[in-house]
Amino acid sequence: MKYVRQRAEMVTRQIEARGITDAKVIEAFQKVPRHLFVNDALMDQAYGDFPLPIGEKQTISQPYIVAEMTQALELHEESRVLEIGTGSGYQAAILAEIVSRVYTIERIHSLFIKVRKLFDTLHYYNIRTKYSDGSSGWKKESPFDAIIVTAGAPEIPNSLIEQLALGGHMIIPVGNQYSQELIKLSKDEKGVYKANLGGCRFVKLVGVHGWKEV
Ligand code: SAM
Repeated sequence: MKYVRQRAEMVTRQIEARGITDAKVIEAFQKVPRHLFVNDALMDQAYGDFPLPIGEKQTISQPYIVAEMTQALELHEESRVLEIGTGSGYQAAILAEIVSRVYTIERIHSLFIKVRKLFDTLHYYNIRTKYSDGSSGWKKESPFDAIIVTAGAPEIPNSLIEQLALGGHMIIPVGNQYSQELIKLSKDEKGVYKANLGGCRFVKLVGVHGWKEV
């Protein structure tokens, strides 16, 4: 009950009050039990206005940035979405409440194993997971109506642009290792268009088309 109340407050104060208007996104935030996507010791902080550590030096993003990125994807129920950087699984679960099919890739094995169990426990059967470097995308399942990268890239990988369907949108943080700009790339018959949604700070996208491993 405590978490139901905290979740409702999070939606009102952090999501709606800051201008998220897509009813599908708001409903998804009302449903997904964010406290189950963090370690037990952090559950009471899960609905706070900040990112939290999830182990392996990775983070679950602040609720508002998850909402902003999700809304910017302009999703429909039949959209097929690719996420790079499964992390805690929270963003994928939000997507899975909105669309029919979510594909998500994580490069850290322990996070991948943990999240697969969680998706089973929470009955998210429309999420397909993959343990891999996602900076090259998931060619076999492409094209995707939307692509969301939840780690900061030095530049937009061409492979991801190729795997985006015509009429689709990609959201990706691009910049250096300390700060990035949130880029929305849209693709149609005439080409690709980029819009800058503002500054952000994500952990590194590590991979062939990202940063080198440290
Ligand atoms: N979307 C996540 C969530 O809802 O919890 C947050 C993601 S966290 C900010 C970034 C994640 O991207 C980390 O789990 C990290 O291991 C993963 N990552 C970084 N580079 C990657 C790559 N090349 N392929 C797949 N995952 C990657």
